[in-house]
Amino acid sequence: MATRIEAAALQRTAREFFRRDYPPPRIRAMDEAGEIEPTLWQDLGRLGWLGLTIPSAYGGSEADTRSATILMEEIARAFGSLAVAYALGAMVARLLADVGHEEQRAAWLPAFAAGSTILAFGISEPSGGTDALALQTRAQLVGEQWVIRGQKLWTTMAHRAAAIILLARTDEPDPSERRARGLSLLIVPTGQPGLTISRVHLAGMRAAGTCLCLFDDATAPATALLGQRGRGFHALLGTLNVERALAGALSVGLARAALEDAVAYARTRLAFGRPIGAFQAIQHPLAETAAELEAARLLVHQVAEALDRGEQPTTQAAMAKLFAAEVAIRATDRGMRVLAAHGLAIESDMQRYFRDARLQVFSPVSNEMARNLIGEALGLPRSY
Ligand SMILES: Cc1cc2nc3c(=O)[nH]c(=O)nc-3n(C[C@H](O)[C@H](O)[C@H](O)COP(=O)(O)OP(=O)(O)OC[C@H]3O[C@@H](n4cnc5c(N)ncnc54)[C@H](O)[C@@H]3O)c2cc1C
Repeated sequence: MATRIEAAALQRTAREFFRRDYPPPRIRAMDEAGEIEPTLWQDLGRLGWLGLTIPSAYGGSEADTRSATILMEEIARAFGSLAVAYALGAMVARLLADVGHEEQRAAWLPAFAAGSTILAFGISEPSGGTDALALQTRAQLVGEQWVIRGQKLWTTMAHRAAAIILLARTDEPDPSERRARGLSLLIVPTGQPGLTISRVHLAGMRAAGTCLCLFDDATAPATALLGQRGRGFHALLGTLNVERALAGALSVGLARAALEDAVAYARTRLAFGRPIGAFQAIQHPLAETAAELEAARLLVHQVAEALDRGEQPTTQAAMAKLFAAEVAIRATDRGMRVLAAHGLAIESDMQRYFRDARLQVFSPVSNEMARNLIGEALGLPRSY
């Protein structure tokens, strides 16, 4: 049974941590440098946040999904790039805990929870992310090891990871079988000659450590198979709703950052002898954001609570991800309008929130695909 951490205590600790140790100028510097400081990642381990939902037997706190969404909102409020890296790490840890065998869990989870080992997650490829089943990467068992050829793109933190957990085709599906058959998850160690990792520089989420990974006869031991051979995609399906709840919480955090900064600015910036916040044209969009933010958060928490009861709220998870992403887009756009030229200045946090929020409309699942899933749940024909 997962533990619920008191929301107010978690929020207080997180806000105080960022305010005291990583205030906005330090975050801004990391964004500009395109790297999360190693000490920040280690601090997340020290605070027990990397192990938040990991079983206690492996150094975690075994907290529930609702607690994870509360922490995610706080991390995203402070630093979007960190929130992306955190979310990806949390998904990898969950997969290891869910389908890993005892040796794999013991080898990776305690070090991940402590912040001493980073793990990356490679699903997307240059050929596309939405149609994940079209992936081209192949792994073949030769003697006692897997030999991997292919590419993974946009892999968060791969350049600092000890291993990449990737999805590759290990078996060709029979023509009568679905494309999902024959895909397997493998834990592939980095730092080997067959694997080249390079950074991809982005306009948003600049410090998330996005990478291109080239596998040219890279190897992994036969024991690196995570879960059942040929059933890797099915293992992933079990984590999608959690991933979408966390993505929703990330969007809520970004929207809150934009709202709080815009309100603070509107209270002090003067025009025509009055604070601009006194004008309805400024006040009303901020009021809209406040209402939308509240609704998005409730939706995210509703999904998290359903997950914590053992349900699989697939349609609601798609709705929460979709709605919260659009709220983040509107909130950051409105924030930019309120700050005008000051929002566009590179020293402004608002332009960072605005750039970072762009990720939320297409990742981890695109809003179009989320709409497809909701449409199907309404009883309409599958559109893809
Ligand atoms: C900062 C960052 C970090 C990331 N981290 C990771 C990571 O760690 N691991 C990982 O595996 N991936 C990662 N990704 C990749 C991310 O998951 C993909 O970008 C996402 O899945 C979308 O894939 P795509 O960009 O290839 O877009 P595409 O799949 O090419 O989609 C392009 C457009 O077509 C639309 N579209 C596609 N199919 C349909 C359809 N059937 N109906 C309607 N519209 C459709 C999409 O909605 C989108 O608008 C990351 C990306 C970024 C930018």
